[in-house]
Amino acid sequence: MFRLLADAMPGDTRGAKGPKEQPDPFRSCIACMLSAQSRDANTAKATSALFALATTPEQMLALGDEELVDAIRPAGLYNNKAKAIRRFCRQLIDEKGGEVPRTRAGLLQMHGIGRKCADIIMAFTFGEDVIAVDTHVGRVCERTGLASGYSEAKIAEHLDARAPDWAKAEGHFWLIQFGKRICTSRSPKCGACFLVDLCEYEDKTL
Ligand code: SF4
Repeated sequence: MFRLLADAMPGDTRGAKGPKEQPDPFRSCIACMLSAQSRDANTAKATSALFALATTPEQMLALGDEELVDAIRPAGLYNNKAKAIRRFCRQLIDEKGGEVPRTRAGLLQMHGIGRKCADIIMAFTFGEDVIAVDTHVGRVCERTGLASGYSEAKIAEHLDARAPDWAKAEGHFWLIQFGKRICTSRSPKCGACFLVDLCEYEDKTL
């Protein structure tokens, strides 16, 4: 499946919008936290407003509650996200000397950073060969049988164990484009799919 995906799908499209656009690991983490259950355009509004006010953990902790919530409001779930941001900043200063950890294990120790954010930071900020699993990648993995799990985090774990090393640098890009173009959430285009003979999905639309 990875060989076919590599032949048919575009690879590294790092010009795409997302937390990878941020200029440093701290802002990448905050952007990733804000992106939870938020559309890219709304996340971008929230990150622009927040980073216009503060770009370091110290500056972010110095913001008033109202100021912080107002800035991140476009990303939704703003009260919870504001609390998570404060706890993340506090922990970063108290336990990590203000430096974002560079390993997955280190990132996962941070408040508000789950497997998806950790993998996105690993791949897009630190340039590691990691297949970050978002909703598109997770759906394709489940349907095809590439990897499975009851959460995106579990799918990511399973996929990491099964994917060949050569596919890890660009696998995220192939899978996400495949999920957006062919194995779409609604009405997957199974009749035009080059993985159809390998795919284990039981409800193919043929
Ligand atoms: S056959 Fe259908 S369900 Fe399977 S990967 Fe292709 S589009 Fe997705």
